[in-house]
Amino acid sequence: MKRILITGGAGFLGSHLCDRFIKEGYHVIAMDNLITGDIRNIEHLFPNSNFEFHHHDVSQFIHVPGELDYILHFASPASPIDYLKIPIQTLKVGSLGIHNCLGLARVKNARVLIASTSEVYGDPTIHPQPEEYWGNVNPVGPRGVYDEAKRFQEAMTMAYHTFHGLETRIVRIFNTYGPRMRLNDGRVLPAFIGQALRGEDLTIFGDGSQTRSFCYVDDLVEGIYRLLLSDYAYPVNIGNPGEITIKEFAEEIIKLTGTNQKVVYKPLPKDDPKQRQPDISKAKVILDWEPKVSRAEGLRITYEYFKSLPEEELYKAAY
Ligand code: NAD
Ligand code: UDP
Repeated sequence: MKRILITGGAGFLGSHLCDRFIKEGYHVIAMDNLITGDIRNIEHLFPNSNFEFHHHDVSQFIHVPGELDYILHFASPASPIDYLKIPIQTLKVGSLGIHNCLGLARVKNARVLIASTSEVYGDPTIHPQPEEYWGNVNPVGPRGVYDEAKRFQEAMTMAYHTFHGLETRIVRIFNTYGPRMRLNDGRVLPAFIGQALRGEDLTIFGDGSQTRSFCYVDDLVEGIYRLLLSDYAYPVNIGNPGEITIKEFAEEIIKLTGTNQKVVYKPLPKDDPKQRQPDISKAKVILDWEPKVSRAEGLRITYEYFKSLPEEELYKAAY
């Protein structure tokens, strides 16, 4: 039986990855310090003897007994309000955290896959973004703590690949959504759905002409699974190329929720990327992967999930 360590395993994406690898017959070890994650995302796996949870900060030395075949490094605050609140921890988990994972991988002779991000492209000047684009990041702006941590993480991972011959994979994830996102994590989809469910106006930052491309979580997990098992060590974009302005997105959410809410305009956060769309040519060729779930279907499933949560969740603060 293959054994896999998933850091950030109690988070949104990490918990879906735990589900997938359990389903594929792996022994899964989820490691998380629960700083932005939620134990409830993985509670259903506790009765499974092939699942373990280790409560640990991966920026500290990592000890895992037994063999490991794979390590997925997904631990990191991921939403702008999270990483603006805990900037130092964000930098540490992207630097010390990956160093610990790579060191562990050498000892265990394991393959490492890291969660990188479209944020390595910053506010891109090339559109859509292919993996060859080097990006346009402000290192000392508010988002720099996240973007630069992820860029460092890629560089460190490539160094271990090149100098130690370690098996490594890098996925550049574009905005992904689905059940188990936190309603109050500040990302645009839970923000809009939460506002609609509370009967509040939807807050558009800036004039709403900025674009994003939203990928449903099951499609992302499939892409990651294929990349891990591939033999490609360079970064691969995984995302849904269906691009939409934030203003149009707000209109879609209002229609979906049937709430007749209005939109209100708030200042655009500093360095907020103007446009974002993945070029997924590489994933198509190398992984024979492309997204399958339409935005209409993905949003419907996600809305059902948010509606099913206890009402007090709607009013909880982020911390
Ligand atoms: P999330 O906040 O739900 O999950 C992150 C998890 O990491 C949480 O459970 C958190 O408690 C844990 N964590 C953070 N610091 C840790 C530490 N030092 N030690 C142990 N655990 C720690 O966010 P997510 O959306 O699931 O993101 C997961 C990963 O995917 C992150 O690395 C993020 O940068 C990356 N990513 C996500 C998206 C997206 O759209 N969701 C896009 C690009 C990249
Ligand atoms: N956004 C918005 N209203 C909100 C939250 C976010 O208009 O209540 C905007 C935000 O400024 C950005 C886009 O939605 O332009 C996506 O934001 P998110 O935080 O989800 O992701 P990221 O900016 O990291 O891609």
